[in-house]
Amino acid sequence: MKICTYCGESKPLDKFSRDAKQTDGRQNWCKECYNGWRRDNIQSVKAKDDKWRAENREHVLAREAEYREKNLERRRAYAREYARKRREAAKRAA
Ligand SMILES: [Zn+2]
Repeated sequence: MKICTYCGESKPLDKFSRDAKQTDGRQNWCKECYNGWRRDNIQSVKAKDDKWRAENREHVLAREAEYREKNLERRRAYAREYARKRREAAKRAA
């Protein structure tokens, strides 16, 4: 049994979703509270998120560009490493 920190009721563990971040491996809110909260807040959460993105447009775009760049660098490094291995394998085969 675990006490939901939202409704304060004691419920069996299977009424709580799994959450690897929690020490007991379960969320602190029961599924019912969590789903209810999500249902009630999904609009405002989304609205807040959209508002934040709009207000921080440059920051968001910079972050996305940075991510793409990093990703590109990683892909290039991988391609280089792959080409090197291929060359070595070809050398060994010769
Ligand atoms: Zn609850």
